[in-house]
Amino acid sequence: MSATHDEEKNLDQLYRDVLFEHYRRPHHKGMLVGAEIVTKGNNPLCGDNVTVFGKLDAKGELLEHVHFDGKGCAICMASSSMMTDLLTGKTLDEAERLSNQVKAMLRNETLFKVPPELPDFEALEGVKKFPIRVKCATLAWTTMQNGILAYKVGKLECESSTENE
Ligand code: ZN
Repeated sequence: MSATHDEEKNLDQLYRDVLFEHYRRPHHKGMLVGAEIVTKGNNPLCGDNVTVFGKLDAKGELLEHVHFDGKGCAICMASSSMMTDLLTGKTLDEAERLSNQVKAMLRNETLFKVPPELPDFEALEGVKKFPIRVKCATLAWTTMQNGILAYKVGKLECESSTENE
């Protein structure tokens, strides 16, 4: 467990509290039965492993339910939890676009408009100050993006790694 990383100690207290709250009580954690999208990802730099689940609506257009499972550091688990919050109810195209935006925000490539209904993303944005931890935070998003791509081409399984991202 990497919860004692110095970077986490240096995160602003407020941001750290928000992230640890997600870590302790993650949203939508656990296997999702009947999910069309089931995809694994790992971040070997930290040892984070996640599985991301997406269950589509009857038309196969939007993500009716998004879950994640796995083990990882606090930043990875918090980011995965927030990913499920943001992507639930979104179309596959929107989910891909939003994932790109969040990843660009984490890499400090772009400004991100924090959704008013999801203020916790401001805390996630704090991770960009610690480049070595950014891949912990991008893992769930990359995994979901690859899961969506695999689903669109009819592949049932895919694995992702943020190692060379
Ligand atoms: Zn990590």
